[in-house]
Amino acid sequence: MIPITEYAGRDVAVFGLGRTGLSAAKALKAGGARVHAWDDNEDIRNKAEAAGMTLSDINKRDWQTFAALVLSPGIPYKFPQPHRIVRMAEMTGVPVVGDMELFARAVQSLPERGRPKIIGITGTNGKSTTTALIGHILKQAGRDARIGGNIGTGVLDLAALHANAVYVLELSSYQLDLVKSLHCDVAVLLNMSPDHLDRHGGMEGYQAAKMRIFQNQQKGDVAIVGFDDVITQSIAIGLAGHGPGRVVHASSTYTLGRGVSAIDGRLYDNQSGKAELIGNLADCPSLPGKHNHQNAAAAYAACRALGIEQQVIMAGLKSFPGLPHRLEAVGEVDGVRFVNDSKATNAQAAEQALRAFKNVYWIAGGVPKAEGIEPLESLFPNVAKAYLIGDAENAFAATLKGKVALQKCGTLEKAVEAALRDARAAGEDDPVVLLSPACASFDQFHDFEHRGDVFRSIVQAMMPNEIRVTA
Ligand code: ADP
Repeated sequence: MIPITEYAGRDVAVFGLGRTGLSAAKALKAGGARVHAWDDNEDIRNKAEAAGMTLSDINKRDWQTFAALVLSPGIPYKFPQPHRIVRMAEMTGVPVVGDMELFARAVQSLPERGRPKIIGITGTNGKSTTTALIGHILKQAGRDARIGGNIGTGVLDLAALHANAVYVLELSSYQLDLVKSLHCDVAVLLNMSPDHLDRHGGMEGYQAAKMRIFQNQQKGDVAIVGFDDVITQSIAIGLAGHGPGRVVHASSTYTLGRGVSAIDGRLYDNQSGKAELIGNLADCPSLPGKHNHQNAAAAYAACRALGIEQQVIMAGLKSFPGLPHRLEAVGEVDGVRFVNDSKATNAQAAEQALRAFKNVYWIAGGVPKAEGIEPLESLFPNVAKAYLIGDAENAFAATLKGKVALQKCGTLEKAVEAALRDARAAGEDDPVVLLSPACASFDQFHDFEHRGDVFRSIVQAMMPNEIRVTA
């Protein structure tokens, strides 16, 4: 844990007691603050109490006594409208911070030589994969890498600050919205497409949040920016002219003058001005597809920025075990493969999955995003039939009508059953039942992990005992 001493002896409100809220409350308490931890949701409060947290209803406290409000990134800060608690803080002049800001200030409070390195990773898609990949490569290279933030472990639950450590942090746009002091030695922005716009008041706000990953960068720092979509291209060009650090472009589409490119799976380092072939990403079983090649190019650039040798990085790319719920093979029944891509919560993510297979029995649906599945139309020829679930059923059916065979299934269980039956009956080559919902999960599941776990258990229950796998 990273104790936060900044508020020692003072009262701090912590609102939202999910993973990061709990870790912030513990870290503040360990640093000597009087913590007032609360959540509107009774179930979450009960869980927090069971985890040893003392609750204090901040709605009933004197807000003048609070030195800060630590807000969970899941709670609306500015848009669609500030949460009631945020308004309360604003009215009483209590500063609002997030756990990442507390971390950043704790790092800044150390003498310069005692500060660990920080690699921040953001983007619309690929954040978790790239974070885990960089962490994996650094560990394989013998570095003391600590992986967390928006992935796995809340940042304040990571091991205590140490000069030789490298913190590899996934940063969501919500977390970046609550951060002012974070200084990333290496900042990675993978890609940008419209997502979570309701929480940022539109595309401009979303882009501004993502750009905060570069704030506080200095000479000697490195900004790694994807070059595969028009938004990141313009950001990369803008930073190259005006940012203080070195800008490295990363792409799985273009051969770049000064950057890292993965072209048809071949990874090239062009940073010195001459293209060096580093290796073939076809040898990296957990990084299939062009999207993962973008992640690999960015991870390569980030590790190079820390001085890791080229072939050590390549070895790490090869041995990366992958993450669950991202194109995860979960089993096979009678020659029908089942792939869990539950993490694909928007069309851009699902696009990668539909591109990766040719004979797809596609399970989609949940809580739809604004763009729906219309952007995927060019990939509909890869879909043998679509099985629709959740709130999006009717909207997705309307988009698919006349273009792709479809069935409204309601639940994931019914969708898996129907997809297996059809895939078996068709008797074609290499059928894949793919859960890649292009939707959020909260109409039927706690979160995308829950949705993927349910899918995996349904599939595994259909498989003969001896060939079941575990996540
Ligand atoms: P994030 O943490 O940003 O949500 P993940 O690494 O968890 O991203 O990947 C989520 C899904 O997004 C994957 O299942 C894959 O379909 C898709 N994806 C991963 N990397 C990329 C990328 N670089 N570009 C576009 N889509 C990607």
